[in-house]
This record gives sequence, structure tokens and C-alpha cells, in this order.
Amino acid sequence: MSLSTPTALDRAPWEAPLAPVASRFARLRARARCEALARLLPRSVLFAGAPRTGRGKRVALTFDDGPDAMTPLCLDALDTLGVRATFFLIGANLAATGDMAAKYVSRGHEVGGHGWSHQSFPSLSPYELLDEVERTEALLPSPRLGPKLVRPPRGEFSAGTLLRLAAAEYVTVLWSVDSDDCRTRDPRVIEQRLAPGRVHPGDVVLLHEMQPWTLEALRGAVGALRAKGFDFVTVSELMKEDIHGQA
Ligand SMILES: [Zn+2]
Repeated sequence: MSLSTPTALDRAPWEAPLAPVASRFARLRARARCEALARLLPRSVLFAGAPRTGRGKRVALTFDDGPDAMTPLCLDALDTLGVRATFFLIGANLAATGDMAAKYVSRGHEVGGHGWSHQSFPSLSPYELLDEVERTEALLPSPRLGPKLVRPPRGEFSAGTLLRLAAAEYVTVLWSVDSDDCRTRDPRVIEQRLAPGRVHPGDVVLLHEMQPWTLEALRGAVGALRAKGFDFVTVSELMKEDIHGQA
């Protein structure tokens, strides 16, 4: 019997409990709050997608919670699809997987931090918050081509965390489309969530690593979006679009 505590690295994904299903109202409310804040605050503080009125059909796929045992499969799947994405990585996972961060970047992807231990940012003291973020950042490849990106675990943030992170030159990155891949293990449901019509130009799409059903959904979802003329870019590339949607 192992005395160590199981981590995301040694737990099979289908053994983990699914996140509770959010009501449609809760989803719309969260989205409206996020969009309102993103309109009020500069992109150097908070980014949750480019304007949907943009002329380019560019979206950013983002994957949270890696690296893990399935990361090589995920990178291979994205290579096959010809998609570059942005990965928000957990510091403790990075420390356990050697030079994995460099592998994401060498395959053309962008990386950002997701906290050291996946604790809710608003629950941390100012010192703890910066410690979580800086220790993770130190394991990411440097020099970074774009701004320092960080995604708060579960998307939980406060005015205090936004300001503290911005003062330390981190952009807090949320999302505008939730694939729901932590609430279902059915690839068809995820594919529906990412169908053209639900995903719009300028969107940032939330996905998770270590989930075979997410990879299974990707091929159909990417194919359908690409057939409608969508391009897949990194978060910092999407951030460069101006308010008229031009890069
Ligand atoms: Zn997470």
C-alpha cells in the first residue's frame, strides 16, 4: 500500500469525479461577468477573448492542468491536426515531469502558469499567490515570446488577485467558451459545445489535459471549425488583435 497521496499524475482520469453541471443561467451569468470585466480592464490585466466582431476567424484552444502522462498523446494529436494551442500548466506537475515544458514550446505551442498546487487564487494570501505563480513561471522556458500568462485554477479570481498579478506583469487569462469537458466524458457532447455557431471568431476555448474523451472530441471539433474557415492560434496571438479584429 502506498503511503503517498495520489496526485493528478497517477490517478486515471476516469476515476476522478466529474465537476458538477452548471445550469444554463449560471453559465450565462459567469460569461456576462467575464465579458463585462474584460471590456472594463486592459488586456494587460485580463484577457478572455478578442471581440467577436473581428474580421479574422481566429480562435485559441487552451488546455489546463498538465503536464501529465497523456501529454505526449495530446501533443501528437495536435500535430496531426495541425493545431497550435496554449497550455496552462500546474507547477507541481511540471516539477514531476522534468523538461516537459520545453516540449510544448518546441512543438509550437504557448505555455502559461496555472498555479503551483491548483489552489483557488482568492483563497491565498498575497505572498502565497505570488509564490505559487512565480515558482511555476520559473519552470517555464525562457525567454518567453509573449506576455507572462496565468490562468487561475477553476477560473476563480478577485479584484485583488487581478491587481497583484498585473503588478507582477502577469496577464490573467480566462475563457469565453467552456467545452464542458470536465463535466462530461462523452466526446459527442464536447464536440457539440465546440460546434461552429457556438464558437465565434476571437473566442478562447477551455479544455483540459489528461482526458481521453477530450482528445477524441478534438478531431471532429477542429475539422468542423476549420471547414467554416477558422484558424487556430495561441492566446498571445489572439491578444494582438485590435478592437477591429485585425492582427
Ligand atoms: Zn485547473
